[in-house]
Amino acid sequence: MQPAPGAVRRLNLASLRLTPQRRAVLRALDDNFQRFLDVETLHRSTRCWEVPVNLASVYRILVEMEKARIVQVVKLGARLLYRKVPDDEVAQPHFVCTRCGLAEPLGNDALMSQLFEGAGRHGFRLSPRIALVGLCAACSSKHANRL
Ligand SMILES: [Zn+2]
Repeated sequence: MQPAPGAVRRLNLASLRLTPQRRAVLRALDDNFQRFLDVETLHRSTRCWEVPVNLASVYRILVEMEKARIVQVVKLGARLLYRKVPDDEVAQPHFVCTRCGLAEPLGNDALMSQLFEGAGRHGFRLSPRIALVGLCAACSSKHANRL
């Protein structure tokens, strides 16, 4: 499977070549595009590809891809979770399941406008890293009363 053209274009814009290691990380991200995942989980997902990528390289590649706006990062406590931004989407705040990493964009333009306007009135520039965390429907039915 070829990486999405938008990701390749963004790599090129950041002067990053599509190496076999970056391709393996992109595949791992593409295979899990609906979820924010930690670096260890993404590292495990790269193991099914022919090119070995060590954990430190996966982390370095994710940092490069964040700067190139290919991945979006959210911070949950001490954990950094990564998700590839689909070609037709800009990085934006999400609801994120703390158990499985499922991501759903907030998608409420009026609410987003209020948030960004309110932040602007206080001199803040909001980050698209905003994550409203909780449990998705599937996880909450499995783990009732455990947020
Ligand atoms: Zn979940």
